[in-house]
Amino acid sequence: MKYYSTNHQAPEATLEKAVVKGLAEDKGLYMPDHINRLPQEFFDHIQDMSFQEIAFEVAKGFFAEDIPADDLKQIVYDTLSFDVPAVKITEKIYSLELFHGPTLAFKDVGARFMARLLGYFNKKQNADRLVNVLVATSGDTGSAVANGFLGVEGIHVYVLYPKGKVSPIQECQFTTLGQNITAIEVDGVFDDCQALVKNAFMDADLNAHMKLTSANSINVARFLPQSFYYFYAYAQMKKAGKADNLVVCVPSGNFGNICSALFGVRMGLPIKRFIASNNANDIFYNYLQTGKYEPKPSVQTIANAMDVGDPSNFARIYELYNRDHAAICAHISGATYADEQIADTMRQCLKETGYQLDPHGACGYRALQEGLQEGETGVFLETAHPAKFKGVVDAIISGDIEIPAKLAAFMKGEKQSVSMTKEFADFKAYLMTK
Ligand SMILES: *Cc1c(COP(=O)(O)O)cnc(C)c1O
Repeated sequence: MKYYSTNHQAPEATLEKAVVKGLAEDKGLYMPDHINRLPQEFFDHIQDMSFQEIAFEVAKGFFAEDIPADDLKQIVYDTLSFDVPAVKITEKIYSLELFHGPTLAFKDVGARFMARLLGYFNKKQNADRLVNVLVATSGDTGSAVANGFLGVEGIHVYVLYPKGKVSPIQECQFTTLGQNITAIEVDGVFDDCQALVKNAFMDADLNAHMKLTSANSINVARFLPQSFYYFYAYAQMKKAGKADNLVVCVPSGNFGNICSALFGVRMGLPIKRFIASNNANDIFYNYLQTGKYEPKPSVQTIANAMDVGDPSNFARIYELYNRDHAAICAHISGATYADEQIADTMRQCLKETGYQLDPHGACGYRALQEGLQEGETGVFLETAHPAKFKGVVDAIISGDIEIPAKLAAFMKGEKQSVSMTKEFADFKAYLMTK
């Protein structure tokens, strides 16, 4: 399969190039040049298949032209070697819990898949040169990437994070791992971390010295595998006899997650319509209302993994619908909630159903409550475990929610990090010793 750029000014790329480069030369996002429809037989039997079996069929749709089936199967099964997502019932609204990976957030699957695919390509090239992944994080991405790449042969990961600006739970998820993961604590803010990474990719000396790549969320290897979840959700709803008129609501920030679902629909997944739920960062919501895409600086909210002022995957959605505003509106509606509404929703849902939402999932739950129509069944994605945002959640519900064993285990580990200034010269000197 070939991958083209959403800006249409760069040459087409192979899967391998799209994965290793991440971004096209014209700064556009890579898109597969065709989307394969999955056979009807698959949908007829999907309710009897395991998560891994479903994911493998979907992965073949994307990657079978480039990766032999046996290798792909191993990558998929290895990626999903943890508990399956749960579907929980809260009256007529269903929650698909995507927090069963190592860091209890949905980004785990994409990060793990990408790590394995990158490892596969590196091995295939027979290169004994280490691939170095640089990633800047304000919290969540760093933990998903670090855990996704942990122990993958031939790859070393450097996670750059701003000193004192990530939560203690997040920090220990990437500073206690050791092995092929190095945490770099930068005396600066997130933007400084990002600038160090960007400068490193552009630096000729460094690129001559070591093989560098990014694990950005726009990478096709991180974003396409997220579609596995939606097929699995459909299968569970079908099993429960609830798959007709399915509405799926996705708490969205960068729009990678919902975009992967829209690819799923093109593969034949029978989901009737989508709701993209935003926090106060309402760029997509406004686009739906006005037809104008107007990015603006992000504002900080309690659902902070969705604090995005210029969602990069908008370009992919736009392309998928042939830049047709009406077509997008016919299939996707929007919602936007202020922090106070998110907090109210968390309290109300807990009181009425006993279900503990996290601030991101709360945006999804509320949009379904408000937007579901007669005869429809709603599923929202609970994108992270509420304990990941313990401080915020406890304050809202006046409670003390339990930290799951998986998270607690991280907190027992010993923190190890390299201190770094925000000067590129220092970062470069450090990497040149590697
Ligand atoms: C990243 C993230 C989101 C937003 O997903 P996008 O793909 O960026 O739209 C929502 N919730 C949580 C918990 C996240 O980590």
